[in-house]
Parts: sequence; structure tokens; C-alpha cells
Amino acid sequence: MKTEVAIVGGGLAGLALADRLHNAGVEFQLFEARSRLGGRISALNTPTGKVDLGPSWFWPGQPRIAGLIEDLGLRAFPQYSAGDQCFEDESGTVHRAKGFASMEGSFRLEGGMIGLIERLAARLPRDRLNLLSHVNKITQNGMVLLNERMQCQAEHIILALPPRVAAKLQFEPMLAPDVMQALSAIPTWMAGHAKFVAVYDNPFWRAAGYSGDAMSRRGPLAEIHDASGVNGTPAALFGFLGVPAAQRFGRAEEIKAAALQQLARIFGSDAMRPVTTALMDWAFEAETATDRDHNPPGGHPSYGLPPALEKIWDARLQFASTEIASDMGGLMEGALYSAERVSAQILGARTQDYGAS
Ligand SMILES: Cc1cc2nc3c(=O)[nH]c(=O)nc-3n(C[C@H](O)[C@H](O)[C@H](O)COP(=O)(O)OP(=O)(O)OC[C@H]3O[C@@H](n4cnc5c(N)ncnc54)[C@H](O)[C@@H]3O)c2cc1C
Repeated sequence: MKTEVAIVGGGLAGLALADRLHNAGVEFQLFEARSRLGGRISALNTPTGKVDLGPSWFWPGQPRIAGLIEDLGLRAFPQYSAGDQCFEDESGTVHRAKGFASMEGSFRLEGGMIGLIERLAARLPRDRLNLLSHVNKITQNGMVLLNERMQCQAEHIILALPPRVAAKLQFEPMLAPDVMQALSAIPTWMAGHAKFVAVYDNPFWRAAGYSGDAMSRRGPLAEIHDASGVNGTPAALFGFLGVPAAQRFGRAEEIKAAALQQLARIFGSDAMRPVTTALMDWAFEAETATDRDHNPPGGHPSYGLPPALEKIWDARLQFASTEIASDMGGLMEGALYSAERVSAQILGARTQDYGAS
């Protein structure tokens, strides 16, 4: 296989880059390790609709995501925030209060964030989106190797993967120690986290005057929100696990049962009757997290392109995940920023080449 640009990773950054290149008439092939596109954007399918297992929100002041949503014909709606908030203390006592829902003012997407991925993929040629295509090795002469039989020769290779996951690839020749160190030092945003989702027949907590917003010192969920679709369908609550990754491993069923009991303590016994539940533990997804991500950073890291990652192999090898973005790095907006930056560089290099010839 031969192409102009080989994109490794079919998350939002990889797909947005593919979309930009395709619109500019640049040949590409995209390689995605998983059997699905989207990376950290993923959804639980339920009979009444999709519930986000990765990102749920975007915010005012994020022009790229707002522009993409409009371009793709998707519709946003505000995070549900009417009603009381709850706080569960260490003893399990629940304090109910009127206040400011922590995610009030944030926006969700009708049909879930996965709509971004589905619609981007739908306008790209199917034969350029290679699923179940785990890239193992990259060479300086432009080879992307999946295995001995599957390889692709490209002018540009773009790694649209979390930098720590990129550091697990084999590079020939080996990348300099400062490059490998720079890749490994960048924490993957939210990679150490896990999300528990409970889907119900109806948003019973709303009828009881709760917003669905709760914080807990008891756990296992540390932070809970209404995850329902527009107008409450599908009806769902989600919580971020407060249990460290090391203590979550192999305990999914136990954690799910404890999470339901916690929802019942906070919102009432209806919480014990979900239609379905899911626990998405990103910390144990090899395409997202490394062991170093199991202890998430305390705050939002300062992301951007470290100088060591600039101009590798005469800028033939570039990085494009959200963690490389100097604007809103870590977030979906950052993934779009990275795609924009790398596509501008590739298109700029092309213009120079044509100008020179
Ligand atoms: C639980 C959670 C909640 C979040 N909440 C929010 C939120 O509310 N708002 C927000 O803006 N952001 C949020 N984020 C962050 C958001 O998900 C990311 O910013 C965004 O999805 C990153 O996209 P990406 O394309 O850069 O990386 P990824 O989505 O990680 O894509 C990388 C892709 O590379 C693939 N890959 C890995 N290794 C290989 C290989 N060797 N060969 C081929 N393919 C490979 C992976 O399978 C994956 O598809 C959240 C993330 C999580 C996990």
C-alpha cells in the first residue's frame, strides 16, 4: 500500500485530520487498532439511544468543536441542571441542597458525542479507514508496518495517538532519548479514569427534584451527573469512579453493584432498577492508557508540542493527538486544534514543494 499521508489513530484528531486532508485532495490512509473508530469517544448503545462512555461535554469558547457540530449537522443541548444537588459524606449521609450544578452551562450532543465520529467517518472514503489495524513499527523512510504482510509507504506519518501510547511503537532508527522521554512525560488526559453508567426507564430523580448532580466522599462514585439524552431520553446517570485504578482491576461487577447502591442512597430506591449498566474503565484500555496513566495528574496539565517532538525525520513524522495541542490540550477542542495544525503543515509543505518544482 502507498499513500501521501499515513494517519495512525482513528480518534477525533485522526479523523478530523483525515477530513481536512480529504477536502484538500490529499491522499491518506488511516490505521486504527480497535474494531471501532472514535478512540476516547465511545458510547453505550441502549434501546432508547446512546449514552456517552467517554467525553460528555463541550463548553462555550470552543470555536472548533462548535464549528464542527454545525458543519456535521448535529445538535447541542444544555446539560440538565434544574433541581437540587447532593453531597454524600464519608459516613454515607446524604446532604441535599439547592446550589449550582457543577456542570451547569456545559453542552451535550443529541445522540451522544459519538455522532461526531459517525458523521466524520461517513464523509470519508471507507477504503481509507482501516479498522483492526494495529501499527507496530514506523521507519524513517516512511514505512508504517502493521505486520510482516501489511505495510504502507507514505510521505508523511502522523501519530494521532496519546504520546505515551505512541512511545510504545517501534521506531527505526530508534528515536533519540530526549524524544522518547518527552513522549512518555505527557500524561494522557482522563486515561486513568473510569465511568459508571446506569440507564433507566425514566429520569425518576428529576421528578423527585434532583438535578442528578452529586459529589461523594464515600464512593465508589466520586462525582455523579445526569447523563440523559435530550428531554430525558435515554434516561441515565453517570459517575466518575473515585477508586484508584490499581484497586479497580478485576472488580468490575463488585464496583457496579456498589455504585447502584450508592445511587439508591442518594436518589432513592428506584436507582436499584436500571434497564442496564456499564463500567468503562479507560485505565485498562491499552490503546488509551499506559501504567503511568493509572495515577491521573492532580490538575489539568499544561499541554503543547514539546520542542523535542518538532521536526523529527525532517518533519516527516508528526504528532497530532489532543495532548500535543497548545490550545485546550486534553479536550476534544484540542484534538481539533492538533488536526488543524498538522494539516496546515502538510498542506504548506505541499505548496512549497510545488512552488520549488
Ligand atoms: C472518561 C473521559 C471523559 C472525558 N470528558 C471529556 C469532556 O467532557 N470534554 C472534552 O472535551 N474531552 C473529554 N475527554 C477527552 C477527550 O475524549 C479527548 O480529548 C479526545 O477524545 C482525544 O482524541 P484523540 O484523537 O486525540 O485521541 P484518542 O481518542 O485517544 O485516539 C487515539 C486513537 O489511536 C488508536 N491507536 C492507539 N494505538 C494504536 C496503534 N498502535 N495503531 C493504530 N491505532 C492506535 C486508538 O485506538 C484511538 O482510536 C474525556 C476523556 C475520557 C476518557
